[in-house]
Amino acid sequence: MDIQENVPLAALTTFQVGGPARYFVEAQSEAAVRAAVEHAASRILPLFVLGGGSNLVIADSGFPGLVLKIALTGVSETRQKGKVIFDAGAGEDWDSLVARAVAEECAGIECLSGIPGTVGGTPVQNVGAYGQEVKDTITSVRVLELGSGEVKDLSNAECGFRYRSTMFNTTARGRYIVLRVTFTLASGGKPYLAYADLKNYFAGHKDPPTLSQTREAVRRIRLGKAMLIVPGDDDCRSAGSFFKNPVVSQEKCAEVEAAAARLGQTLPKWPAEGNRVKIPAGWLVERAGFPKGFSRGPVGISRKHALAIVNRGNARAADIVALKDEVQKRVIEEFGIELVPEPVFVGFDPA
Ligand SMILES: Cc1cc2nc3c(=O)[nH]c(=O)nc-3n(C[C@H](O)[C@H](O)[C@H](O)COP(=O)(O)OP(=O)(O)OC[C@H]3O[C@@H](n4cnc5c(N)ncnc54)[C@H](O)[C@@H]3O)c2cc1C
Repeated sequence: MDIQENVPLAALTTFQVGGPARYFVEAQSEAAVRAAVEHAASRILPLFVLGGGSNLVIADSGFPGLVLKIALTGVSETRQKGKVIFDAGAGEDWDSLVARAVAEECAGIECLSGIPGTVGGTPVQNVGAYGQEVKDTITSVRVLELGSGEVKDLSNAECGFRYRSTMFNTTARGRYIVLRVTFTLASGGKPYLAYADLKNYFAGHKDPPTLSQTREAVRRIRLGKAMLIVPGDDDCRSAGSFFKNPVVSQEKCAEVEAAAARLGQTLPKWPAEGNRVKIPAGWLVERAGFPKGFSRGPVGISRKHALAIVNRGNARAADIVALKDEVQKRVIEEFGIELVPEPVFVGFDPA
């Protein structure tokens, strides 16, 4: 096991902030993952599992324990009556897996094109975009359970998938390391075109779009919102959407609508599961005084997307946290609603 010391982490994240890992190991096999976990346990070191670093805010002081970078690779395919089962190592690049599935005419993850990060990161927050979520195609998640040291295959139901929430980031936080993920896709299936952005993109097209045209459309739409990583574009030096869209009761929604009306605005909203209502967090952020292109020193709001806090260069994690706090405070004052951040905060003192 090659244990490195004081490894800078900022460059391993899309936000490009944060201090060093006291210890750092990259694991390319299940045995290496296990060895790193045992090493951390024997030294009583806190452990952090790193994927592609696209959903993280790492503290300026870094992480005081062992950062374990998951680099398990390999994708296998099995065909079964109109279905193709992709079993992918947790360290595989997510968008490359989507590209491969689309190229092989397999439907089910095409709307998740262009999302950065690893395959192993996708079940953690039930990654989703343009109406698809990984919960719709994941059949099982192979994990190492830290407490027992056992390797288990968790079923879709066991993962507790909901909107940006799963047992991995709630009740079982820190309990499992994802080793592999199995997706069951529809061979020759049609692309999923439910969202307005995508429907508008293809409006006027004579023939229904193919899977690859849909992938291309999603990537272009994402590019326009700086939701595709383009080196050198400081609007995508971010963790993607910084806040989850609030999902509230009808009563709460009526209160927020009244607050919006007092500002002369009409609240956009969508129906959500269980007679609840989903409110776009980006709209709340903009109306609370943080428009696209807003700057506060080295941090700001993306010029192309109101929901992305961005590092405009040389930002510190403290700058990001200060802007996050300010946005949350103003949104509570204006609309009485607490925005919940989507990224994971690493190396900060527990609140
Ligand atoms: C420009 C941009 C656009 C984005 N767009 C979207 C979007 O449309 N939809 C969306 O849902 N997300 C989006 N994201 C967020 C992010 O890309 C996803 O959440 C992604 O799945 C995170 O994967 P990762 O490998 O980078 O995980 P990391 O950021 O490295 O880690 C995130 C969390 O997952 C845990 N984790 C990672 N790998 C493992 C593993 N193998 N086992 C156990 N735990 C693990 C980490 O410990 C951490 O808690 C976007 C981010 C950016 C920067």
